[in-house]
Amino acid sequence: CISQKFKRCPPLPPTSVIIAFHNEAWSTLLRTVHSVLYTVPALVLREVILVDDDSTEDYLKERLDSYVKNLPVVKVVRQPKRKGLVSARLLGSSIATGEVLAFLDSHCECFDGWLEPLLARIVESEQVVVSPQITSINLHTFEVEKPSPYERNHSRGTFDWSLSFNWEELPAYESDARKDESFPFRTPVISGGLFAVSKAYFEHIGTYDSQMEIWGGENLELSFRVWQCGGKLEIVPCSVVGHVFRSDTPYTFPDGVQVVYRNLVRVAEVWMDEYKDIFYHRIQEAAEIAQKGLFGDVSERKRIRERLRCKDFTWYLNNVYPELFIPDIHKTMNPSLMNRGNQLCLTIGPAGRSVLMYPCYSLQEQQYFEYTSRSEILTNSSHPLCLHAGITMVLLVKCAAHGQIGDVPPAQKFQIKPGGMILNPTVGLCLSVKGSFVKMMSCDPADRRQHWTFISETSD
Ligand code: UDP
Ligand code: MN
Repeated sequence: CISQKFKRCPPLPPTSVIIAFHNEAWSTLLRTVHSVLYTVPALVLREVILVDDDSTEDYLKERLDSYVKNLPVVKVVRQPKRKGLVSARLLGSSIATGEVLAFLDSHCECFDGWLEPLLARIVESEQVVVSPQITSINLHTFEVEKPSPYERNHSRGTFDWSLSFNWEELPAYESDARKDESFPFRTPVISGGLFAVSKAYFEHIGTYDSQMEIWGGENLELSFRVWQCGGKLEIVPCSVVGHVFRSDTPYTFPDGVQVVYRNLVRVAEVWMDEYKDIFYHRIQEAAEIAQKGLFGDVSERKRIRERLRCKDFTWYLNNVYPELFIPDIHKTMNPSLMNRGNQLCLTIGPAGRSVLMYPCYSLQEQQYFEYTSRSEILTNSSHPLCLHAGITMVLLVKCAAHGQIGDVPPAQKFQIKPGGMILNPTVGLCLSVKGSFVKMMSCDPADRRQHWTFISETSD
């Protein structure tokens, strides 16, 4: 990375750095601003736009205005009403005069040379949204963790069916596709507020969903939209920016955290086709918002999808994130597997590798088991665990056919018999409860402890 040269021809595009904030601390906000000023060459830095999302702290008003008077390229604009980060970033981008927009959170520290590799990538290919490699700033000491130059385990951004964001190690085939360690890699989702994009392309693909409020969901919306509508999302490892990963917000959610689900429902309704039901089955609050139509009007966003002739969500899953496990869509919420003999439910054991029996409905996530069309019995997570019939013990192991690639191993295939007996044909034994253990035993229809039934908290 250090030896890369960014030639003046073609020149790197002038860039507007946009930083939205609500009640950010003075020190972290100014640290972000100064680190931009120190690290971006004057030739490239058109302006730094600070967007105050109607903060209530006094020091963020006149004191901030008079402080930035001494910094000619920095301006402050204010939203008259608290609306959230999407509309704050949109206000910033609407007045930006640079050719590229670089968005940052208000608690970052940019490393030397962070912007040039992002811009070089945008010059090479306009339809790309690029993120730096994000390193953490320690929450207590505010020290930046320097990424090791020998770091090979890069992380990309992903999501699960509750639509929460996760970091995940880059799969080997993505790593191997790169010529060397300085090459960008694809990411299914960007993590959020740290990215750069050509202003023209940002406008072409429909900026942001301006009806998303406060916080949350906008990174998924942008990510699905960019991929489905012909663009790309990449992380450029030569670009490094530190970010304070918070444990709490310095701000409130005026109408409650429900707003996050409302934003996510907007994402699901516009971009996820029939897969939205998997999300609704996982998150009941979201299902209610969708059912009652409490997510606002999405027709304008759907028109963007039509105008750009965007691909469907199946295409996205197959081509961008084929590793994501796609559960069957059941009619019921939160299925659990109850034993007829002791009326207890199958439950994930403490270490997550074993199962035990526990009163039904007492531990929701740990009692979620679904029976798939491929005859697996598996848990509720983005990397589900499969019930595995060992000779003596019943275990939970990582599903071998995860992501519908490959065959289900025989030990993970179960047949549910009409009376509710669950047979593993390969070992020829039935799932049973013996004392406090869950075991495979020789099938005996007279034994109530070999009879099971899928139950659910809310049924349609
Ligand atoms: N933000 C904002 N208005 C809001 C909520 C957040 O302007 O109502 C800003 C916040 O100050 C930060 C950025 O949006 O600069 C992203 O928020 P945050 O850092 O809390 O999100 P996280 O990084 O934790 O996902
Ligand atoms: Mn942040």
